[in-house]
Amino acid sequence: MKLRLSLQGRILLGLAILAVVLLSVLWILVRPKYETSVVSERITIVQQLQSYVIENLDKQISEWVSASRSIAWEIAEHPRDGESLLRSTISLFPEIVQIKIQSPELPDELTSQNTAYPVPAVQPAEHQFIPSADSIVQLAWLTAVPGTPSTMMVMRTRFQVSGRMFMMSVIWDAKSLQHYIERLPLGTDYYLRIYSKSFVVFENRPEKAFTDSVHTQQHMNDLRKVKSAGGEWRVITGTFRSTDLTMLVAVPEGAILEPVHQLLVYSSTFIVGFLLVLLLLGWMLSYQISRPVALLVKDVERLGNLDFQQTIRIPEMRNLRKMGETIEGMRRSLERYQRLNVEKIILEEWKNKLFMNHSDDLIGFTDGNHAFVFRNAKFDELCQTLSPSHALTTKNEVLHHSAVTKIKETSQREEAGQLTTEMVQSELKIQLEAERMEYYRVNDLSIFREGENLGSLIIFHDLTNDRMIDKMKTEMMNIVVHELRNPVSSIMGFSDILLNDKTVTDIESREFMTHIMNSSQKLNALINRFLDISRLESRRIEYPKKLIDCAACVREAVKSQQPQLAHKSLMAEIDIAEDIPEIVVAPDLFREAVLNLLSNAIKYGDSHRTIAIKLMRTGSDVVFSITDHGYGIPPEAQEKLFSKFYRVPDAKSIKEVGTGLGLAYVKEIAEYHHGSITLESNAEIGSRFTLSIPIVTDETAAVS
Ligand code: ADP
Repeated sequence: MKLRLSLQGRILLGLAILAVVLLSVLWILVRPKYETSVVSERITIVQQLQSYVIENLDKQISEWVSASRSIAWEIAEHPRDGESLLRSTISLFPEIVQIKIQSPELPDELTSQNTAYPVPAVQPAEHQFIPSADSIVQLAWLTAVPGTPSTMMVMRTRFQVSGRMFMMSVIWDAKSLQHYIERLPLGTDYYLRIYSKSFVVFENRPEKAFTDSVHTQQHMNDLRKVKSAGGEWRVITGTFRSTDLTMLVAVPEGAILEPVHQLLVYSSTFIVGFLLVLLLLGWMLSYQISRPVALLVKDVERLGNLDFQQTIRIPEMRNLRKMGETIEGMRRSLERYQRLNVEKIILEEWKNKLFMNHSDDLIGFTDGNHAFVFRNAKFDELCQTLSPSHALTTKNEVLHHSAVTKIKETSQREEAGQLTTEMVQSELKIQLEAERMEYYRVNDLSIFREGENLGSLIIFHDLTNDRMIDKMKTEMMNIVVHELRNPVSSIMGFSDILLNDKTVTDIESREFMTHIMNSSQKLNALINRFLDISRLESRRIEYPKKLIDCAACVREAVKSQQPQLAHKSLMAEIDIAEDIPEIVVAPDLFREAVLNLLSNAIKYGDSHRTIAIKLMRTGSDVVFSITDHGYGIPPEAQEKLFSKFYRVPDAKSIKEVGTGLGLAYVKEIAEYHHGSITLESNAEIGSRFTLSIPIVTDETAAVS
């Protein structure tokens, strides 16, 4: 089984293994060796300490033994000076507490007491004495003698004076001896015992009483390990030279091995502490590494989910930075590929179709067999109109339809690498209905590869409007020419008579010149009015506008036509409303419009009529209407009435002098003011023309 651990987990595991290894090495390899060396070192130290103590005690005891023997000899030599001898001895040896001489045969005893010490109360028992090395002096070690401040040592010597036996006891202050044995540098828990074969002489810690088996083991100078008194001890023994005593020193196992324990505790603590520091550093380091890696992984996961839009966060660390930059490069490529993917292509296609459907041209694509694979809505519409019952599916069905006439055609082939293009340009006339003709310019681009047709793009550009405009221009030209021909022929005819006919009288020549004059005036009026209309149509000339009183303007116009009215015995009935505001108009144009309508009303009707002229306000318009009770206008003529050069083709109208441009001019004037002109006509009212002009009162706001 494979373990999947995070970087932190790996560091933790690694350090744990390292801790186990280091601690195992410490405990299994280092500890026993160190323990052995510590134990042997300790043995040496204890041995040295023990022999040092024994040596010093031996030396002291030997000194006291020989001093005691000397005193006894001196007294045996000079029994009479015994007392003074004892005193001088005490002054010589200040450690002597008391010297006592007794004889079993005599009741008196001789005692000399060192005044520096209190008198000791206890006498040593017989069996507590042990022989010294010279066997003359016996000694006893009195510990904890009641009433005495410290340990004492009693030296007992027998001597004979004059055949009588005497016993001398010298009591020494054994403080110095105790000092040696109680202050050994072996810690606080060591046990020390000095003993003879039969009894214990000294014990520093009686409560630790060792079993007999221990203290009877002689000459244990190897610091042997012993179990006793409820614990493990290292025990060593040594014998005195000065007397028949043995010293046993026991050190608790724990005290012996203390450096080992200390080493283990310190080393383990150090190892654990060191590993903790390593762990901390490792975690910090791994965080530094794993955080940017985690961010990078997150970003890469996003790439996995095909989200290529968001940029990769590039880590700061040098090695990871390189990796981040590489991934970012990959992301950019993927993003580019995504942009170019099929979905995108389809979208492009739809977009193109949308553009093509909104084009004014008719656009279609065909395959190699000329069958349509795409047609925009306008193309579909044409096909539908051409053949409502049977769907046209190929290019040829459209181009060779019975309603389609080819006017002209050119073609051009071009090589483009492995492909060949052929562009066929033609113009078509399509008869859709009896009265409806449409014109198209057709661009038919086909692509071939090795002679095989791959498909074509066919575009129909509608030329109908252009054709209509051309046609209208031609018609207009014909009308103009026609209208000019009459006055010009008239002028030419009369001029010719005047120049060539010598028989013409003065009266006749005057009459002819009047005709020439009238024709010239008509020609002039015609040309001027035509130019006026053209100027207004083009909107290229700005006519100054200002605030005028329309009512006054209407009254003046009527007044100016008074002779004509009177000539035909016509009555002008003027009805001007009270609330007519002043409005902003081009004054000359407004007057021209009113005059034109008034002049027509006078012209196209019999005499003895009433012409009703009204000026009123309707909503936001000022409305001028003129009802003439005249001939009226037949319905079929009404829709053409405002066209240039149109005149109603009846005898009454034709006999009146006119250009057919007046109403066209009025219409242009109305539109120039954003207004309108309408017509009503019947037998009752004759004709009623109504001119509406929007009310504008702010001169600055009046824009053409
Ligand atoms: P003109 O009067 O110079 O011929 P207009 O454009 O003013 O040109 O008028 C065009 C034609 O409309 C006239 O020739 C006439 O036949 C007809 N017409 C105009 N006004 C009236 C009217 N009030 N009543 C009857 N026919 C009219």
